[in-house]
Amino acid sequence: MKHRTLVRPVEVQGVGIHTGKPCRVRILPRELPGLVLRTGEATVVLGVRAVDSTERRTQVAGVLTVEHLLAALWVAGVTAGELVVEGGEVPAGDGSALPFWNAVRRVGTRDLDAERPVVAVREPVWVTDGDRLCAALPSAGLRVTYVVPLRDRPAQAVDVQVDEESFERELAPARTWGYAEEAGGLWAQGLALGASESNTLVLEAGGYRNRPRFADEPARHKVVDLLGDLALLGAELRAHVVAVGAGHGTHVALARALAGLSG
Ligand SMILES: [Zn+2]
Repeated sequence: MKHRTLVRPVEVQGVGIHTGKPCRVRILPRELPGLVLRTGEATVVLGVRAVDSTERRTQVAGVLTVEHLLAALWVAGVTAGELVVEGGEVPAGDGSALPFWNAVRRVGTRDLDAERPVVAVREPVWVTDGDRLCAALPSAGLRVTYVVPLRDRPAQAVDVQVDEESFERELAPARTWGYAEEAGGLWAQGLALGASESNTLVLEAGGYRNRPRFADEPARHKVVDLLGDLALLGAELRAHVVAVGAGHGTHVALARALAGLSG
């Protein structure tokens, strides 16, 4: 497979889920391999070493919440492009990867001449952090099994063979979620200032406050977050990734462990 870029530029604008402020991302075609992130001050080549923070979201070069955008690009095979971000955060949209997926679909993609690297896992690789586990096992394609423990309710699990079709149907629509009782604490830390019921599925005792798109929407969204973090590999991944209770920190740690396998 070749590196792929967009046919023409496309943009998504809205509000940042953490900053609560207007922001916008323009995705531009690029003739060279690699995704480049451009802000007012800096240009950074996206990759596992470019991550600054994994607290509640993935931050690269000072830009918050890149993961849903990166998940959509990666599944569409887009590994070449320029992401120009204004406002310090990628817009939340409806809290899912769908706005980015639809934007990529709208403009279409084309292949470059350069071959895209492949990371093929030949023996198990894993990282742990307390109870959190992220493992990559040998597999012909990309499969994800994600187990998400939840407060006051049964754990959820998703097992999915990841391709464009399954992403569009089963994963991209799944929104950011959070516990109702946590909102105040996050706001006090200056996080989730743009979160609302229009971009976040709210979990409260006994169920969901707003209408879920899937009964297991939280677990599906965790798969989107994982894909966005693994996109930092900039390569095609052939692995069965198994995550249990994981988060951005463990996802990125696994991506770092896999980065050495690129061939
Ligand atoms: Zn997310």
